[in-house]
Amino acid sequence: MSTESVKKDILRGGQFLVKETPSEDVFTLEDLNEEQRMMRESTIEFVDRELWANWERFENKDYEFTKQCMQKAGELGFLSIAVPEAYGGMGMGFVSTMLVCDYISGATGSFSTAFGAHTGIGTLPITLYGTEEQKKKYVPKLATGEWFGAYCLTEPGAGSDANSGKTKAVLSKDKKYYSITGQKMWISNAGFCNLFIVFARIEDDKYITGFIVENDPENGISLGEEEKKLGIHSSSTRQVFFNETKVPVENMLSERGNGFKIAMNTLNVGRIKLAAACLEAQRRVTNEAVKYANERIQFETPIANFGAIKAKIAQMAINAYAGESACYRAAKNIEDRIAIRVAEGNTHQEAELKGVEEYAIECSILKVAVSEDVQNTTDEGIQIFGGMGFSADAPM
Ligand SMILES: Cc1cc2nc3c(=O)[nH]c(=O)nc-3n(C[C@H](O)[C@H](O)[C@H](O)COP(=O)(O)OP(=O)(O)OC[C@H]3O[C@@H](n4cnc5c(N)ncnc54)[C@H](O)[C@@H]3O)c2cc1C
Repeated sequence: MSTESVKKDILRGGQFLVKETPSEDVFTLEDLNEEQRMMRESTIEFVDRELWANWERFENKDYEFTKQCMQKAGELGFLSIAVPEAYGGMGMGFVSTMLVCDYISGATGSFSTAFGAHTGIGTLPITLYGTEEQKKKYVPKLATGEWFGAYCLTEPGAGSDANSGKTKAVLSKDKKYYSITGQKMWISNAGFCNLFIVFARIEDDKYITGFIVENDPENGISLGEEEKKLGIHSSSTRQVFFNETKVPVENMLSERGNGFKIAMNTLNVGRIKLAAACLEAQRRVTNEAVKYANERIQFETPIANFGAIKAKIAQMAINAYAGESACYRAAKNIEDRIAIRVAEGNTHQEAELKGVEEYAIECSILKVAVSEDVQNTTDEGIQIFGGMGFSADAPM
């Protein structure tokens, strides 16, 4: 792509506060192209057929079913949207990856978490920071769902302060492998993954280092029980213990001491994707609430005629509209910035990393705002359903 063919004067990260944007430069869902519209349709179809129709299984801790749905998603190509074509993926742009993440998350947080953990933090560290050999070896399997990935950063004493982890990586005398020992917790997909991205400290390094670790119980890897969670009941979340787990030196991600940077940049992409993952639930909840409010008669009139109910529906619509508009506006800015960087000579890896990093402010705002909104929207929906809102059989 030449620099001329790429629009250069786009909004930079955080500039929405100080710079005017021509309205035609603000991307919304109405601007989706034909291919993206078709992709949205097939995603909705998959969700309705495979996920929504089986929501009880997700509520009832059917972890195996989550895995089966992930396998189906892999067969249908949903796990490969963001993966470059060279490694078996579709290599689609940032907006398309947001679109699939948005609509595939509409039925259940259990599947959404498994999907996000695999395609995001489980795969991205390799596509963004892996060597050619690492990418060739692992990414095609992750793109098809033949293998699943998980991400081991959090430890009992290291949560928000992620660089303070105690997991150690010790180089062997023959310098052929690292021996990893430590305890990780809250690891999504741990129960069924084939590969872990593991962060560990070498000697007394200031920063942790990332490693690709194949899941092999014979190699000192064991799991805790499934966490008893308040929600996303069929998303596998377990502790992972590494006891002198041998990892070949060629499985180090990027360079020694680069792990904290990898961890933070991967999570940055995850922030805006988490916002996207809260959109379709709001659309569905709002639609169901409107339907119910029109059907439910009290005081001889549909409850939709009451001012308080109208106000709730208005607030739900505001939340859904504002979140959707802001997410796709930022997504297109990121996609354009990546295109500019590629045109200027960055590799796609560098361009994607820097492109997303530049919009860290937007990614963070969206994560906070839209994840709060989905809770508020759902709460309003529960209220509109009255007593039925408290029933596990109601769609809320
Ligand atoms: C369902 C689920 C799935 C998860 N999946 C994964 C996974 O796949 N891989 C993985 O590595 N981790 C995973 N996590 C862990 C998650 O990343 C951590 O829970 C998160 O980083 C927060 O760490 P913490 O729970 O130790 O909270 P803490 O860091 O102990 O924070 C406790 C409270 O203190 C606040 N706080 C912390 N620091 C500051 C500060 N500087 N200023 C003000 N307030 C502060 C926090 O906001 C929070 O309110 C998962 C967690 C959950 C619940």
